[in-house]
Amino acid sequence: MNEYVFGPVPSRRLGRSLGIDLLPLKTCSFNCVYCQVGRTTCLTVERKEWAPTGPVLEQVKQKIAGPVKPDVITFSGSGEPTLNSGIGEIIRGIKSFTEIPVVVLTNGSLLWMPEVRRDLLEADIVVPSLDAGTENLFRYVNRPHPEISFERLVEGTVQFREEYKGQIWLEVFLMGGVTAMESEVEKMAAIARRIRPDRIQLNTVTRPPTEEYAYSVPEERMRHFATFFEPEADVIGGHSSTSEVTGPAGGSEEILALVRRRPCTLDDIADGLAMNRNVVMKYADRLISEGHLHHKVQDSRIYYWAAEESPKKNEA
Ligand code: SF4
Repeated sequence: MNEYVFGPVPSRRLGRSLGIDLLPLKTCSFNCVYCQVGRTTCLTVERKEWAPTGPVLEQVKQKIAGPVKPDVITFSGSGEPTLNSGIGEIIRGIKSFTEIPVVVLTNGSLLWMPEVRRDLLEADIVVPSLDAGTENLFRYVNRPHPEISFERLVEGTVQFREEYKGQIWLEVFLMGGVTAMESEVEKMAAIARRIRPDRIQLNTVTRPPTEEYAYSVPEERMRHFATFFEPEADVIGGHSSTSEVTGPAGGSEEILALVRRRPCTLDDIADGLAMNRNVVMKYADRLISEGHLHHKVQDSRIYYWAAEESPKKNEA
């Protein structure tokens, strides 16, 4: 059973991504109002071996030997991956047996710690987040552990840029009615200039959020705000995949394993598992009739999630 590795899942920014989830649901240093995994039940800054290094590496090895080749291997999942004290060893282990790029999605909250910055040095791409331009809005949007201040978050990310030679793709997240206004975006753009990322990606709420008051920002406004950044931000939307589909994969179990991590659309499932949409629909209909799968319409799309989870209890 793949306890720590899931997918490959479709990622709007990375293509087909093999996910590694190093934390129990839902362990994080933040409790973001827009989180698609649900409310944080273990709000912590304690670093420990939340998942054992050996079995994680073994599961990655098995997955990449399978029929669907991922474009990237991504640390994401049920919470903040740098909370796992073994992440450095796991990244180095993966690099020893594959050339598939390793990506770490992080909320950046622990980058003020020298050992966390060291642990990420071997990753190919690090994607830290910036969701606010002031301490107040940071607390409102991210609801962090009390030991994390906005200054620590920003200074840690700036320091990481000094030490890390790989790609930094800064994810700037905007929330309708809260941070999606010119005065706030200007503050975030000023911080981004200090971080000097290789790319900036502008994101907003696209999947069912933890709190219903977390609103998305219309695409036209997103495109306007993208021009505030240097380099100009990419507005995330759709996704591309460059790897060859080497064979059929999937089935009910794979679909359920995928939607247990986060709610997915029909296209997400079809792309992530390299399955025909009609085949996915047949599986989905059967899983719904058997009571294993739920679905809900949001923003004109149908999202599926596993029946044993609420729609809010399902990435980062
Ligand atoms: S969005 Fe990411 S950082 Fe925020 S609570 Fe969810 S898992 Fe944690």
